[in-house]
Amino acid sequence: MLPKWSRAAVLREYKVPLAIEEVQVPQEIEPGALLTKIDTCTVCGTDVHLWQGSLTRKVDLPVIIGHEMLGRVIGIGSGAERDSLGAPLRIGDRITWTRTHCGSCYFCTAARQPILCENARAYMYENVERYPYLLGGFSEYGYVLPEAGRVKVPDDVSNELASLSSCAFRSVMNAFDELGTIATTDTVLIQGCGPLGLLAVAVAKVSGARRVIVIGAPEARLALASEFGADVILSVEGTTAEERRAAVLDVSSGRGADIVMEFAGQPSAFLEGLQLARRGGRYVTVGLLGSGQMTFQPSIITTKNLRIIGSLGGEAKAYWKALDFIAAHQSHIPFHRILSNTYQLDEVNIALERMRLQQEVKPIIQIAG
Ligand SMILES: [Zn+2]
Ligand SMILES: [Zn+2]
Repeated sequence: MLPKWSRAAVLREYKVPLAIEEVQVPQEIEPGALLTKIDTCTVCGTDVHLWQGSLTRKVDLPVIIGHEMLGRVIGIGSGAERDSLGAPLRIGDRITWTRTHCGSCYFCTAARQPILCENARAYMYENVERYPYLLGGFSEYGYVLPEAGRVKVPDDVSNELASLSSCAFRSVMNAFDELGTIATTDTVLIQGCGPLGLLAVAVAKVSGARRVIVIGAPEARLALASEFGADVILSVEGTTAEERRAAVLDVSSGRGADIVMEFAGQPSAFLEGLQLARRGGRYVTVGLLGSGQMTFQPSIITTKNLRIIGSLGGEAKAYWKALDFIAAHQSHIPFHRILSNTYQLDEVNIALERMRLQQEVKPIIQIAG
């Protein structure tokens, strides 16, 4: 017997506190779909932007907010007995899941970039009053759409770290896929030391980078960066751009970073990234998603022969790589220190407000157990 109702945090009007409502649980699970009981959902900056109405994408209110969720399978539609990597899925298994892609549009098929699918459906953007209702993370139950990727969580990865892997970490893993190989001689510069920047430091180091430099703030986060493997730490608050440039050149034989990866989200970081990359270097941007603008001289890209790469989101492969990385390295990398405080579903507004005020970095909404 499936449950009839799911308590969920519903957004009906921007900037107004979310109401915890009783939302219908679909009593029919389509072929290929799954129903889950959500254990945890970590909070992402995008949740706050959606709540505040400051996203550029279309949102079909009312919606259930939250998209970094970890759920336990409680219902399996026909043909959904395996995850996206072929592992068997059974009732009780823990999974993370992706937005959908259709597999039959130009971007899915010809461009082979399903993240750009023209018919994608994503969690927390779809109307809660239409079947299958439960397309958001701050909810007791969650519905996995038939076209969504789903990845079984390794037994030794905690619910909280699995949640973190479903948005923040998969975006980092996707960025490394977009980047390509890292040589043992490469200096990698990471811009930003929020959750994504810290995770990127760890992946760059484990991937064999000669040295990893991180530029960010505040001091407490920078201190954590060294525990994630950073060799050189530069405070964006305590140094001038010229001092940072001198420091980067100093450790890279005067050439600059072979690879720069942006997770800072500040438009001003873009020009600094271009300036700190060596001639012929690669630059991946991930965090620049807002409407902010900046001016720069594009000839820097041509004259330095730079490769500029954008990286958006990530598919099932990136979720799986994130989970696998945590399973492999959690004994020596303190991933849990990225997470901040834990709140119950009823306290979701407190968590969102503290995120908005930058008093929280990555709170956890504990929904079950
Ligand atoms: Zn997110
Ligand atoms: Zn498509």
